[in-house]
Amino acid sequence: MKIIQAVRGFKDILPEETPLWRELEERARRILTSYGFSEIRLPILERTELFARGLGEATDIVEKEMYTFVDRGGQSLTLRPEATAGMVRAFIEHGFQARPKPLKLFTLGPMFRHERPQKGRLRQFYQVDAEVFGESAPEMDAELVGMTLEILKAGGARNLRLEVNSLGCPDCRAPYREELRAFLRRHQEVLCEDCRQRMERNPLRALDCKRRSCREIYQEAPTLSDYLCGPCTRHYQGFLRGLSVLGITYSENPHLVRGLDYYTRTIFEIKAPELGAQDTVAAGGRYDGLVAALGGPDTPAVGLAIGMERWLLCAGPLKVSSPGPDLFLAPLGEEARFMALELSQGLRARGLRVEADYSGRSLKALLRQADRLQAARALILGEREIAEREALVRDLRTGKQIKLPFRDVPDLLNRLLIEILF
Ligand code: ATP
Ligand code: MG
Repeated sequence: MKIIQAVRGFKDILPEETPLWRELEERARRILTSYGFSEIRLPILERTELFARGLGEATDIVEKEMYTFVDRGGQSLTLRPEATAGMVRAFIEHGFQARPKPLKLFTLGPMFRHERPQKGRLRQFYQVDAEVFGESAPEMDAELVGMTLEILKAGGARNLRLEVNSLGCPDCRAPYREELRAFLRRHQEVLCEDCRQRMERNPLRALDCKRRSCREIYQEAPTLSDYLCGPCTRHYQGFLRGLSVLGITYSENPHLVRGLDYYTRTIFEIKAPELGAQDTVAAGGRYDGLVAALGGPDTPAVGLAIGMERWLLCAGPLKVSSPGPDLFLAPLGEEARFMALELSQGLRARGLRVEADYSGRSLKALLRQADRLQAARALILGEREIAEREALVRDLRTGKQIKLPFRDVPDLLNRLLIEILF
């Protein structure tokens, strides 16, 4: 029979991988909480128009990466390609503007993009996403970058490189966009097909082209920093000063742009060079116009997203062990198996990790299984033990064994607990 496999670019996270995932998620949660963030859980399905309006029609994501389908009710829905749009939708829908500002929210979960799968690039991938609503001060941008680095380092990531830039506001961007378009036109014969289209529709997006031939040309492109208005310049300077105050090393990359239209002013990317071609682990920036663009009240906002898979790839030597059971119950015979069933429940209720084996295998096979599970101790319940009303506890590391006499189950439970805990 033909075996059904997972969809390309969609990956199982295996039992031996989940301990590390959980550890990283926990560390991220702890740090986010220490910065005042609360968790929000959002649906992974949203109306398509949320992304079309929120991310911008002429972005790679909206043009060619979204999983969009019409449901049975005739509505166009999309698996979220990123979390910010949904976060903003929830902010507006629940009237969060009435809450004390700034409002700090984070979420953690899968995103979906129809891209070419390769190392560090999947079609379902996970992000930690954090957003701050209602604060326009550049210190907050610097604090968020500091927090992102702290989270990544808490996961063992080293050699991180921070790149920053300012995208200005619509006022300073408009003349720049024309200047950039003129530049692209002058070079259009050598640009890739995508960039020629971007030149007309959304010239800033060209700067994000991954093609080497295009990137080389863009080294000479006009930069937005020469067009920043007074308030945007001051904001950017404040951001850089904030980074210095925090002792954060950064490099200014005047050609850095982000894949989505909604960004204003501060943008940043954190790279881990050892990741190779897909080296951006985390990225983010400010999007002061998005809440209003989606029909909400004028609300400045800034946020970031960490890609879990890439974070895991550079998680370094962080070893998370999953210890074996405290006790492995090895019952021999039917009576003993039911006894083991009863005992194990009582022991777990008292906080021990316990596994019982009901397979009916030989003692030798049971002990091999205990070994495989890396159990600390085995409790052997044989016909004879039951007849003599005592159990054999073997320390699997030292080989030492003792007999525990029992009159009834509660008595044996207590003795076992004393034996294991003290
Ligand atoms: P890239 O330039 O690598 O395509 P992006 O600019 O599209 O990244 P963002 O939308 O900023 O990425 O997402 C933030 C982070 O999410 C990225 O830095 C990366 O770690 C992760 N990420 C994005 N797309 C993918 C993907 N297809 N597979 C795995 N991780 C991803
Ligand atoms: Mg991308």
